Amino acid sequence: MLDLASLKELLAQPQKIVITTHHKPDGDAMGSSLGLYNYLIQQGHHAKVITPTDYPDFLSWMPGNEEVIIYTEQQERSAALIADADIVFCLDFNALGRINQMGELVGASSAYKIMIDHHLEPEDFDDYRHWNINACATAQLIYDFIVNELHHPELVNKDVATCLYTGIMTDSASFRLPNTTSTVHRIVADLIDAGAVNWRIHELVYNSASEGRLRFLGHCLANCLEVLPEYNTAIIAVNKADLEKYDVDTGDTEGIVNYALSMGNIRLAAFIVERRDKVKLSLRSKGEFPANEIVKKYFSGGGHRNAAGGHSEDSLEQVIQQFKLILPEYKKLLIQ
Ligand code: 5GP
Ligand code: MN
Repeated sequence: MLDLASLKELLAQPQKIVITTHHKPDGDAMGSSLGLYNYLIQQGHHAKVITPTDYPDFLSWMPGNEEVIIYTEQQERSAALIADADIVFCLDFNALGRINQMGELVGASSAYKIMIDHHLEPEDFDDYRHWNINACATAQLIYDFIVNELHHPELVNKDVATCLYTGIMTDSASFRLPNTTSTVHRIVADLIDAGAVNWRIHELVYNSASEGRLRFLGHCLANCLEVLPEYNTAIIAVNKADLEKYDVDTGDTEGIVNYALSMGNIRLAAFIVERRDKVKLSLRSKGEFPANEIVKKYFSGGGHRNAAGGHSEDSLEQVIQQFKLILPEYKKLLIQ
């Protein structure tokens, strides 16, 4: 275990640092990782961001992106960096299974492991933890770590601010979720003052779709949406053939579930997609409804109350069926 004073002492000298985050990184995963990276390199640390898998183009523009190593594309180099690291920062996840094969490498490394995260029920693999489930994004906790724990507000430069703004924006569904507190808005104001160009970041993340993505969205809404009014629930289910037909890329399915949730009465929305190796579920909910409970209990997943994900080895049809059979258990919460 490390206490804050020892961690500060450690970080006072240049260290070999690996920053990693969960597989299929989202905006918070990449924003947190590159935000911390851009902070650490200002102090002369030898830092590398290693992601377990690739990530979408709409997240591939943040400062430092060209330095990111994708594990699946550079396994030997990644393994060597992890084995040789003094410190491994584990951001936006708290269970080693979330970083696929990298989990074993990180687990076996003698590096200090620093967990910065906002998901429920952390595993016990870390030496220092900055963890708070009430944070709207891990990027909020990175800001807090830099400013309030390490006392370096002056090192939140334009690059750090740009990345952290992206993480907070994406994980709070553009500042709309209940955990977007006044504190979050104050942090966001600081990030804009530090150089984050808020309107430009929104453009880069949300207005960068291809024609294919928009046509695929049209297909999902016109042909794959099922509304279950008796449960205030909507499902969008997409099969493998459609993914191929529309040439759907990593990230093209991101956010589609929110369209299902945008209907007035809907409290729970599911996007169920037949990937190459398994069926993946993305759940979103409004207010108090615990979407994470469903995926945790039935679909080997987890996440937050209003945004959670999971997966299944069953067929797409079976997963849809199973999901519908679960709804009666939650009917009271869904219709109140
Ligand atoms: P998404 O639906 O965008 O894939 O994920 C929504 C949230 O649920 C994210 O915070 C993500 O970290 C979490 N999540 C998604 N899939 C899984 C999973 O398989 N296991 C766990 N523990 N969390 C997941
Ligand atoms: Mn997050």
